[in-house]
Amino acid sequence: MRARVLVVAALLLSALAPRAQTPKRLALVGGMLLTGYEVPPIHHAAVLIEGNTIVQAGAASEVKIPADATVVDTSGRTMLPGLIETHGHLIVLGHGNYATWFSWINGHGGRQTLMKVMETSARQLLMAGVTTEIDLGAPLADSLAIRDRIRNGEVVGPRVFVSGPWIAHLPATAVGDAMQVGFGGLNISSPPEAAQQTERLAAAGVDHIKAHSGLSLEEYKAIVEAAHRHQLRVHAHVYAEQDVRHALEAGVDVLQHAGSAGTAPPYSAELIRDIVNAGRPVVVTAAHRSWVYPDTAAFPERLQDPELKQLFPAEIYAEVQDSLKNWPALAYFQRTDREMRFRERGVKQFIESGAVMGMGTDSGTPMNFHSEALWREIKVHVDLGMTPQRAIAAATRVNAQIIGKARELGTIEPGKLADIIVVKGNPLFDIMALSNVETVVKDGRVYKGGNPSEPRTRTANSPGK
Ligand SMILES: [Zn+2]
Ligand SMILES: [Zn+2]
Repeated sequence: MRARVLVVAALLLSALAPRAQTPKRLALVGGMLLTGYEVPPIHHAAVLIEGNTIVQAGAASEVKIPADATVVDTSGRTMLPGLIETHGHLIVLGHGNYATWFSWINGHGGRQTLMKVMETSARQLLMAGVTTEIDLGAPLADSLAIRDRIRNGEVVGPRVFVSGPWIAHLPATAVGDAMQVGFGGLNISSPPEAAQQTERLAAAGVDHIKAHSGLSLEEYKAIVEAAHRHQLRVHAHVYAEQDVRHALEAGVDVLQHAGSAGTAPPYSAELIRDIVNAGRPVVVTAAHRSWVYPDTAAFPERLQDPELKQLFPAEIYAEVQDSLKNWPALAYFQRTDREMRFRERGVKQFIESGAVMGMGTDSGTPMNFHSEALWREIKVHVDLGMTPQRAIAAATRVNAQIIGKARELGTIEPGKLADIIVVKGNPLFDIMALSNVETVVKDGRVYKGGNPSEPRTRTANSPGK
């Protein structure tokens, strides 16, 4: 018995050893560097990583690359911080109908299949350059499980922070019920119940709280007070002016969806002014529905993109494709024509007011694939007047601040965790470069591309020597 324990302990130690001992060195050398700050790029730059931490970043001529470092040549490319998705859902991945999606899962392996779905979503996000995801709505146990499995290295995916189920009182309709059941939503009907559910989620170990729309001011307040006692931030899912106002006044930390979907005309000048003055972050989630729908109408071929197909297990891909056969008729899009009337003003009201804007997409919702959601969202912001540099900062540095991780994430500078992507082209010239992610480094490890050369003894292309 004791011998077995020792063997297990030895195995565990050997599994941990390579990380714990001499930190491996990785260098990304040659390309343009966007640090995540709104400053001019650094040309012909280099980034040196030890273990999972950035130790140097700057002009290649000034960064000393040790001979034992593995070098990734980024010449002719752009390096930038790993993208942060501040509103995703791993349990959906573009399927057209929540009710049939969750019942398909139940009929095809249940929770095991749900885990496979989450693994698929996680891989898609990471391959698209998303190195951190804020998951905002999924059953509690499954949320915690996928987060921890990625953290332990069992699953390839972004660093995930989860809310588990949202707190709501959704109307008892077919759609409302399917969503509550599928996403595991928690129904409450009073401030004490709201506080109690928040406490329960905090005790279970979630990373933040999602408060749905339609709660009273007192209910939002109860959630915020309980969450803040546990140092958890609250994200509110709010569209209508009244909900945004309640969430703002209750001290909700991030206003999610505000300004999108045009279910109401753009907000009053007072509300915008109060959001700006409070410095309260807004994540518009603009592109789902209001852009995804017309963009798909213009180019339905995107749904059959062979690259998209490669990112799915065959059975899940077939089910998603089947759900999208008659996509214009999907219930999810039935208000889109009205929403599109206000889509531009909805986003511009924040861009032009100087609001603190993060970047998130509701990734995974119908036709809003994890592999493209974030660049689609960023493109909308740029098309409507946000500079590419501000948009990239929103998706990296500002997002890190919004989620309370500014000390570890969001920029490329010494001391930060080594989350770096390399894209083809110059995103400051054409933001669509973000759709061309060639290399993904998360936590100092290369997950995509890179073709890292082995540690060199030669110094032929070793800047700084
Ligand atoms: Zn939401
Ligand atoms: Zn959502």
